[in-house]
Amino acid sequence: MRLVMVGPPGGGKGTQANLLKNHFNILHLSTGEILRTELNANSKIGEKARIYMDKGHLVPDEILLDMMARRLKQKDCESGYLLDGFPRTIPQAQEFDKILINLSHQLDAVIELELRKEKVVERLSNRMACLDCGEITNLLFHNSAKKETCRNCGGKLYQRKDDKPQVILQRLKIYDQQTSPLLDYYREKGILRIVNGEGDIKKITSRILEALK
Ligand code: AMP
Repeated sequence: MRLVMVGPPGGGKGTQANLLKNHFNILHLSTGEILRTELNANSKIGEKARIYMDKGHLVPDEILLDMMARRLKQKDCESGYLLDGFPRTIPQAQEFDKILINLSHQLDAVIELELRKEKVVERLSNRMACLDCGEITNLLFHNSAKKETCRNCGGKLYQRKDDKPQVILQRLKIYDQQTSPLLDYYREKGILRIVNGEGDIKKITSRILEALK
């Protein structure tokens, strides 16, 4: 099973990908997560990516495509994966097609999580990440008394720089301009599955599984 999740930032791609990875027993690869790990390690890639990520811009393709081509070649990708956050533009999708051909991989489906803009802004402004394990906690859904503590590892929660109001708007603009054209790209290939991304987390997972049948 090889899947791609597309949807606006804060649309629940990561949450759903985590649930689907367990259901299908496949690898979940989030480019945002890979980049944040590089960033926290102050690696060369991380240092280059930081300038773009903090402003809500896309990381340039020369960094990202190379990183993904290398990652997808690794052995643990042979039995399937779920990509979350990649591809994000038409040029990335075209490069991804080449990678798939080179590796003799076939993409089974692209799932689009569809949400209204106001829902996305509401979710993103309430989203916190753990400094230690990267777990995302949304205060809208996990309204615990311990708002500063990760429910997974007890680490300290922080708000990502790119989840601040101005940057959220920038990311949504980029989504509309650069990522949404991907939907037609995959619709034409006949592998696009559109799923309502609003409402209860478990219901959304059921809708995705239904759409994949
Ligand atoms: P995400 O966690 O998916 O919202 O990604 C966080 C940030 O990482 C994005 O706002 C971009 O700066 C960067 N990023 C993630 N995936 C990509 C990609 N496919 N192309 C370019 N930049 C990306």
